[in-house]
Amino acid sequence: MATPASVKRLHHQIALVTGGSSGIGAGVAEALAAEGATVFVNYSHSPDGAAEVVKKIEAAGGKAFAVHADVSKEDEVLAMFDEIRRQCGTLHILINNSGIQDDSPFLDMSLEKWQHVINVNLTGQFLCAREAAREFVRRGPQPEISRATGKIICMSSVHEVIPWAGHVNYATSKGGIMQLMKSMAQELAPQRIRVNSIGPGAIATPINLTARDTPEEEKSLLTLIPYGRIGEPADIGKVAVWLASDESDYVTGTTLFADGGMTLYPGFADNG
Ligand code: NAD
Repeated sequence: MATPASVKRLHHQIALVTGGSSGIGAGVAEALAAEGATVFVNYSHSPDGAAEVVKKIEAAGGKAFAVHADVSKEDEVLAMFDEIRRQCGTLHILINNSGIQDDSPFLDMSLEKWQHVINVNLTGQFLCAREAAREFVRRGPQPEISRATGKIICMSSVHEVIPWAGHVNYATSKGGIMQLMKSMAQELAPQRIRVNSIGPGAIATPINLTARDTPEEEKSLLTLIPYGRIGEPADIGKVAVWLASDESDYVTGTTLFADGGMTLYPGFADNG
């Protein structure tokens, strides 16, 4: 039977968006809430940013809570999941979005910079995905709410496949997320847990402000985007809603690139 258009696609579902207090995470949190999900907006150091996103969601008629955790710290992640269970009983959707850049030429890259990025971008996604999967298995299927027992969506990047000089720690973390996502998808599919990634290209957020500082820098960035525009957080929000909804119920273990064609090797468009 077809779903009536008035039924929101994520009705009765509880979602957690890590790093939801800014940029892509904020856009995804708003998009999930607009489809009826109750959204936990995670922040590590920006309670005001998280409160702002919660306020925006509530003003639009949605439901949201701010929740603190540094995703690279196991005890804080465990406490965050306890808090979600305490407030709403369970979780249906994890958006593993928190991420940082801490760039350096390779020859000068300190162990500290390497570990900082790997700890947040890769270990943080592992810790949150493990706790989400444990919660999905503990709670079991709720087919009246969603065909899948749970959905995990990892925010990867075009840099899971495009190497990035000067950003070796970041590109390595995103390459790692690709195998983390696929291996989890393989292992968790029998429990009807779907795991996928989104691979954004250039999206206008605080993480890449310096790459868009001047008109010249923006023009240079656009040469990498065949579709001819820089993305917005809402572009990623729409993809996240689809991957979290039953519309994508047969999709697991894949990265959906939302990049205006950045992964199409635009340098080869005129015969290289
Ligand atoms: P952003 O800086 O606005 O968002 C990153 C978020 O992660 C922030 O809310 C920050 O507070 C949070 N965060 C940082 N360290 C944390 C920690 N230890 N614990 C919990 N949260 C932490 O930038 P963004 O562009 O919105 O980035 C979101 C995700 O999208 C990142 O994973 C990033 O790698 C990815 N991404 C962004 C782009 C882009 O062009 N903007 C492209 C590809 C991938």
